[in-house]
Amino acid sequence: MAKIAFAQEQLSIYKALLTATKSLAQGNTPDEVLRAACDALVASTERICLAWMYLGNPGSETITPSYSVGKASGYTRNLVIDLSPEAMKGPARRSLAKNEPVLVQVKADSSFGIWRENAIRYGFQEGLTLPIGDPNHPFRGLIVIFVDAKDYFDQIGIEPFIAFAQLATVALDQARLKISLKEIASIDPLTNLLNRRALQEVIDRVYAYAKRSEKPFGVILLDLDRFKMLNDNYGHDLGDKFLLGISEIAKQTLRTSDWLSRWGGEEFMAILPDTNEHDALVIAERLRVAIEEFSIELNTQKVRTSSSIGIASYPRDGDTPDFLIKAADAALYEAKKSGRNRVVAAKDKREVYSIAGKLNTAIENNRLVPAYQLIVDLQTRLPVAEEALARLIDESGNVIAATDFISAAMEMQLTHLVDYQIIKQTMRHCAANIASNGPSIAHFVNISADLLLHQELIQDLFAEAQAACISCGVDMGLTKPLVLEITERQLLGDAHAVKAKLAPFLDFGMRLAIDDFGSGYSSFQYLADLPVSFLKIEGSLIKQVKDKRVRQIVKRISDIAKDLQLTTIAEFVEDADTADILCELEIDWAQGYYFGHPVLAKK
Ligand code: GH3
Ligand code: MG
Ligand code: MG
Repeated sequence: MAKIAFAQEQLSIYKALLTATKSLAQGNTPDEVLRAACDALVASTERICLAWMYLGNPGSETITPSYSVGKASGYTRNLVIDLSPEAMKGPARRSLAKNEPVLVQVKADSSFGIWRENAIRYGFQEGLTLPIGDPNHPFRGLIVIFVDAKDYFDQIGIEPFIAFAQLATVALDQARLKISLKEIASIDPLTNLLNRRALQEVIDRVYAYAKRSEKPFGVILLDLDRFKMLNDNYGHDLGDKFLLGISEIAKQTLRTSDWLSRWGGEEFMAILPDTNEHDALVIAERLRVAIEEFSIELNTQKVRTSSSIGIASYPRDGDTPDFLIKAADAALYEAKKSGRNRVVAAKDKREVYSIAGKLNTAIENNRLVPAYQLIVDLQTRLPVAEEALARLIDESGNVIAATDFISAAMEMQLTHLVDYQIIKQTMRHCAANIASNGPSIAHFVNISADLLLHQELIQDLFAEAQAACISCGVDMGLTKPLVLEITERQLLGDAHAVKAKLAPFLDFGMRLAIDDFGSGYSSFQYLADLPVSFLKIEGSLIKQVKDKRVRQIVKRISDIAKDLQLTTIAEFVEDADTADILCELEIDWAQGYYFGHPVLAKK
């Protein structure tokens, strides 16, 4: 193909693959996801004459295509990739083993295995294998594509295909998650114990009873120590035997009225009705010792393990099942952190109550105020926007940063009030800024899932926005300076419902930013479903951007954002080197201590 033709080809592939990501996200099973990927690849260009897929355990004896599409799909009819030395050298096996794409040229004199003749007959010039899925998962996928043009991948570049495979991996993981969610019954097949969902119902019932009868109960969360190492050293089968053995020990140690469940992989949870904190501690300690003493013999060697345990008691450590589980989890984390093989009781919640109390008074007395942090254009280094961050001024005038009160606010369900206060003040600040002919910049505010649930506050903010626009006395046109940041970390839930709730703001001309992009698994779905204008990249990624691998990730995010015409913003930029790297990666804007600390609003 001529150069121009290649350029056109490249453009159409980019376009087709981007459009195809939507169909990936719609796949309900791993199989559907990979089929959609194959279809999309073949549909993207005439040059791809075959795409086939495999889904299964890469270690299995034979690999055969489970789906193929394209004008040359007859090629796969009798294709079997076994464990012969020749097959092991082939691109499919190699790609799965190394978890990386393999590009091969189909030449008459090449060592392209036993399929060479066949491949040549179908007019293949080059083949590209793309491994899909988490390399640590025994169940993975492979997509193989063949093209009928010479030096095709060299000219087009394999990057768009790799990016596409990465998106397919995300979609595959999500599909797997959907299936496992559906498969939940109430019994764990390995240990025969209740599973997590079943225990959740038990807690709700025990809690209702405890509340009615004003009796205490205990929650014990147990996690085996260094269990991954045990699996790695002695094999998964022995690991399973331990899980079984430990579930037996736990059954014997607990009383018949107690409930035991397999909470997750190597985590167990027990609910102890009518049990005070002291007794729960005694039982947990007994359990810890029993597990420490338990061993399984393997080739005359005695293999042992140990456990870390967190305990929470009702009513002391929380007054809902949710709080209690969180408290037990926090205690377990403490147990791990302080050396493992120990029992830790949840810290009481006095600190949380105290912070929440302070926050409440501060809100009443207008002592919850925004601090604005500058956002600059990375090319010009000029201010283009600012983000409003919540600050609490306590009775003695000390400024308390959001990180020091936001988790208490979340625990006590006060985040909607925090957001409401900050957004309202920012709207006024923004209007005043415009009225006094200040620089025309965007104002970013955070909006939590919690706030979206409070329709009355939303309506109030909307009225405030209208008043602000009138008060500044300038016609601002269609696009308003306020940008709403939503974070995927908070699991805002169903994107369509979120979109409906945000609609009045968006219709009004406010724009949407995704915060902490790259921190969770649902971010691509958000991009697909919400009319996003800005993408703020997860701060921990930015902090690591000097690392080559992280840089690649940020580059991909930047590329995707560009294709979708989004403005990218890097947070946590703390030094000049980071800023320069981000500039090279063509990130648009940046914020962080390097450009300016948050500054309290002038009263
Ligand atoms: P830590 O002390 O911090 O808890 O270390 P850990 O290795 O126990 O924790 P991590 O969460 O890293 O690993 C948990 C391991 O538990 C990894 C996984 O292989 C193993 N596991 C989870 N479910 C099963 C199972 O059903 N059978 C077996 N054999 N192992 C399992
Ligand atoms: Mg563990
Ligand atoms: Mg664990």
